[in-house]
Amino acid sequence: KITTNYNQNEDNINVVVRVRPLSKKEMQRGDTQIVDFPGNGQIMVGDYWGNVHLLGSPIWFQVDHCARTGSDSHKPKRFSYNVVFEPGATQEDVLQFSGMKRLISMAIEGFRCTCFCYGQTGSGKTHTLTGPPGLIGTRTVPYSENHGLIFRSFQYLFQQIQLQSDTHFVLKASYLEIYNEKVIDLLNSGSLRKPLAVRWSKKACGFFVENLFTVDCEELDDLIAVLEEGLRNRSIGRHNMNDYSSRSHTILTVHISSELPAENGVFISRTGKINFVDLAGSEMTKKTQSQGKMLEEANNINKSLMVLGYCIATLSDPKKRSSHIPYRDSKLTKLLADSLAGNGATLMIACISPAKSNACETVNTLRYAARAK
Ligand code: ADP
Ligand code: MG
Repeated sequence: KITTNYNQNEDNINVVVRVRPLSKKEMQRGDTQIVDFPGNGQIMVGDYWGNVHLLGSPIWFQVDHCARTGSDSHKPKRFSYNVVFEPGATQEDVLQFSGMKRLISMAIEGFRCTCFCYGQTGSGKTHTLTGPPGLIGTRTVPYSENHGLIFRSFQYLFQQIQLQSDTHFVLKASYLEIYNEKVIDLLNSGSLRKPLAVRWSKKACGFFVENLFTVDCEELDDLIAVLEEGLRNRSIGRHNMNDYSSRSHTILTVHISSELPAENGVFISRTGKINFVDLAGSEMTKKTQSQGKMLEEANNINKSLMVLGYCIATLSDPKKRSSHIPYRDSKLTKLLADSLAGNGATLMIACISPAKSNACETVNTLRYAARAK
């Protein structure tokens, strides 16, 4: 069900792939599953097939026919991922085996961490992060197998914090949306739709959103309330919710500060954070590229996604890692810069559909994800 292949302690950008099940709608219209796992760790995507080597060597795809996606290359490609979640994998599997728990532990220790979901609209990004829409109001429901990664991470975070009883923790959370390069606060409904500025400061150790509402969270319920409030505000007043959410990114951030008493009345203080990012649909990247539009137009549709891909690909290439990384080219990458580089850690969850009708986007997502490894 899950194939792993990683040394997560060494990499600061980890990539996992999650394949959602074929939906009822897809089955009804006669769509078929073309992403397959024929055992032995193999992955097949239609004409694209590949072997997954268990533990130790990378998972790879060999592309033996590219005409269908209009790709320029007919050479075999090596794609490598850390973990592959097959359609039967549960929400809890994703928490347990994606490397998310390590990210949370790192954030507690003072690192800046990001978990983001990438993939075409309908591939399961929001499902993976927050679960199905009906789960808003979950505070009254103690447990559902549908609870997403954010909810589960919050629970795990509090469990970990409670284990460190001699350390004093302060948690704060914020939730924002980036739509068309405008940053909108999802927690302060008074300022809803009034864009906020992204600035850089030495004190903040990087980029930050000016006047962003930050909520003190003493208990697990407070964090969950932040998630619910953001989800609620995200869905208010949107004529075409699907269209809107497929074109916007949301970032839920938990800031974790701690003080541990050391010798002679001295305290060791640490400040880490963790971002949960639900990205815009990846089909947007293709649209801007395939229509030959240049950066200004990509700016209107979804520049951030392209810049993020470029930053990650550059960071993942040991030869280019020390060269210029264009974080400043989009709001999204500005806000994620500290966790992408430096001492941070990033988990990318590439979400794909198993359906034949989505084959091209699926291969594009696998390529994008492989570039990040
Ligand atoms: P995205 O956010 O990438 O646009 P969604 O998360 O909204 O996609 O998923 C699209 C549909 O597929 C939703 O109805 C969702 O509930 C369903 N879905 C996605 N992933 C899974 C999964 N792993 N198991 C069951 N249903 C899923
Ligand atoms: Mg979504």
